Amino acid sequence: MTHDLLPNSSVIGILGGGQLGRMLAMAAARLGYKVRIFEPSDHAPAGDVALSVTQAGYDDHAALKAFALSCDLLTFEFENIPSAALALLEGTRPFFPARAALEVSQDRLVEKDFLNSLGLKTAPYAAIDAAEDVAQALAKTGCPAILKTRRFGYDGKGQARVMAASEADAAYANLNGAPAIAEGFIEFSREISIIIARGRDGRVAAFDPGENHHVGGILSTTTVPANIPAILRADAVLLASKIVTALDYVGVMGVELFVTPQGLVVNEIAPRVHNSGHWTQAGCAVDQFEQHIRAITGWPLGNGQRHANVVMENLIGADVARAAEMADTAGVQIHLYGKVDVRPGRKMGHINPGDGRGLNGAGAVLPRFYCTPRALDYNAINLHRFHSAPWPRGHVSPFRRSSCGSQIEVFDAQKNRYPLHHDHRRGADRHWAGV
Ligand code: AMP
Repeated sequence: MTHDLLPNSSVIGILGGGQLGRMLAMAAARLGYKVRIFEPSDHAPAGDVALSVTQAGYDDHAALKAFALSCDLLTFEFENIPSAALALLEGTRPFFPARAALEVSQDRLVEKDFLNSLGLKTAPYAAIDAAEDVAQALAKTGCPAILKTRRFGYDGKGQARVMAASEADAAYANLNGAPAIAEGFIEFSREISIIIARGRDGRVAAFDPGENHHVGGILSTTTVPANIPAILRADAVLLASKIVTALDYVGVMGVELFVTPQGLVVNEIAPRVHNSGHWTQAGCAVDQFEQHIRAITGWPLGNGQRHANVVMENLIGADVARAAEMADTAGVQIHLYGKVDVRPGRKMGHINPGDGRGLNGAGAVLPRFYCTPRALDYNAINLHRFHSAPWPRGHVSPFRRSSCGSQIEVFDAQKNRYPLHHDHRRGADRHWAGV
């Protein structure tokens, strides 16, 4: 345990009072902490399980400061906190994850530049500051493309698809002149995401990647394990480790990825617990919410080990009425967010049906975990290219069988070797790097 563990009974302030804040607050309570919520809107699902709710806007700096000073440590579940509010908060109490990560993820152009600066693959992209930039941007990305507002997009909002260059001006007009980017269309076979955590001591732990299915732009299900080869799981872990290390990140992050024949392409990062990580509540001893609280308060991280396969399903809008009926099914875990108004497209809850193939159940589940035994500088690792096969010489080699399992070897630019172990002993299937 690290020496700067936040003392028992301390108060964690969470900015944002939605369902993510609610589940963070419940995890914090399990570790002996109390939570206060800051939320502009009038019914905060997180407020039902917190010590107090401050209902004020992010531009109410007096309220924000008083809130911060009533807490011992600050975090957030909402990433669109304005810069001025972040600057104010930073000067009050320890704040994790730090502002830099938020600012990268708040702007799609900054985010793409950052990911590319790490040598990671993204869709081809170009900035659109005004209508006259559209043609040039599409010349760079090709068509089809997707126009996305640089800021404040979520669940597919603030986006317009362009199938032919002739549609581009009308598509941009739909974004109401907001600064945007054009993204080339990625032909992916699957969408996956990886939930990763980095502690205050720099150690990294990741959960198994999940496979995501969207309906109408909103996440519908996350299936774990994702139907991808083991080598791509390892790529996802390494890639996400590189991102959190480069940002000196503390907390849980969701990284959304496209699976393509050329390897993994990063879609976006979310500097917070993520909807596609809800399966961990039923699949892991330490779920993503507790993992975040552990990371920011200085506890050792959970190792990410999965003890069951899970298909998380969101209950959107009227789906919530099915909850009671689903509760009658063995092995289904129900989570309702306490929202009063049922609206189409509104996330009301989720269910985590296990497949009954836990460690003690029938059938073969290979529990996986990915964690580093100590802090490792992933920035040094050369991950310029992510290939399924063949593997480029001198970058990342395929699994190699050895008496204690198989190994992936990762090299940095100076050709120093970082072994990444993959161990099948005692039924475990686990990876860790830099031993
Ligand atoms: P986003 O808000 O960026 O996560 O985009 C929402 C959804 O649109 C993603 O989950 C993908 O299904 C799809 N999408 C976004 N960007 C691209 C892209 N460059 N190529 C293909 N599909 C995309």
